[in-house]
Amino acid sequence: MTSSGMLVEHEAPRQRVRIAWLELSCLPCGEVAGYIEDDRIVRPVYPGGIVLERGKPRCGRCNALLFGGQRGVAISRSDIG
Ligand SMILES: [Zn+2]
Repeated sequence: MTSSGMLVEHEAPRQRVRIAWLELSCLPCGEVAGYIEDDRIVRPVYPGGIVLERGKPRCGRCNALLFGGQRGVAISRSDIG
């Protein structure tokens, strides 16, 4: 991965990435387990935080089914959440 400080190219506004994200929360743990980006990339907030079981996201801690919370569109990865 390239550090943002090392980027030479400047992104044109129309080339910006748009990431549709959906927050996945665990009710028993009471916290956000991670996010789904563009309906296909599962990104846990901590390693192993999300386990996929038959295509359904489950909590890596307590194995409860995660439910979708807030969603939105981010223009960069750091905007998610
Ligand atoms: Zn949990």
